[in-house]
Amino acid sequence: MNKSPTTASPDRSKPRVLVVEDEGDIRDLIRFHLEKEGFVVETANTGDRGLDLALSRSYDVALLDLMLPGMDGYEICRRIRREPKTAGLPVLMVTSRGQEKDVVDGLNIGADDYITKPFSLKELSARVRTAVRRTQTQTTGGHARPLNRGRISVDPLRHEVLVDGQPVVLTMTEFRLLQHLMKHAGRVFTRQELMPHVIGEGVVVIDRNIDVHIGNLRKKLGAGGDAVATVRGLGYRFDDQKA
Ligand code: CA
Repeated sequence: MNKSPTTASPDRSKPRVLVVEDEGDIRDLIRFHLEKEGFVVETANTGDRGLDLALSRSYDVALLDLMLPGMDGYEICRRIRREPKTAGLPVLMVTSRGQEKDVVDGLNIGADDYITKPFSLKELSARVRTAVRRTQTQTTGGHARPLNRGRISVDPLRHEVLVDGQPVVLTMTEFRLLQHLMKHAGRVFTRQELMPHVIGEGVVVIDRNIDVHIGNLRKKLGAGGDAVATVRGLGYRFDDQKA
């Protein structure tokens, strides 16, 4: 089952991007552009092949076209999230429909961000770069101290969240949200204030995205979910009393 990847580069210092796209022209264009921008790019033209690569190799970000022959982008994302090894992999959904419903569906199953076709190559590389930077801040930045509050603990270095000692699998976005709220427990953050911590700078998102991420985060935290409290009319805060 392991065919060789479409690009084999030995350079481990460059960020690695997986591109799953069935349209050859778009795939070639994305690859050409991202390689020029200093990324190592591997591509797949079907969903099954894309999932194979995502699970068997190591990437800094995955770019998933939504509509693919066989397994679609939603399903690939779902399976990436299910595996502990890839659960934290930033996923960028590419949708040609651009309707809010698709976007919300994508975020619901664990995508970190989305980009709507047609997109400019400049916008694409900005999004990819932001996603990569998020991963790198996560593993090397100044937020590396483990946080323990009530039944919830977060270990940024290991990208690990425990509730009552049991591991909980979060997307990178949910992880960042939780980490930020916990770090400043008690303080209320508006959606506007939370956005840079979630999506990265230079990216426009709608308020509702934050609500979707928060809703998913709460669900996944189970018994600890109430600690991520809504402050009506304002935003969200981490409530130590409920953690
Ligand atoms: Ca497609």
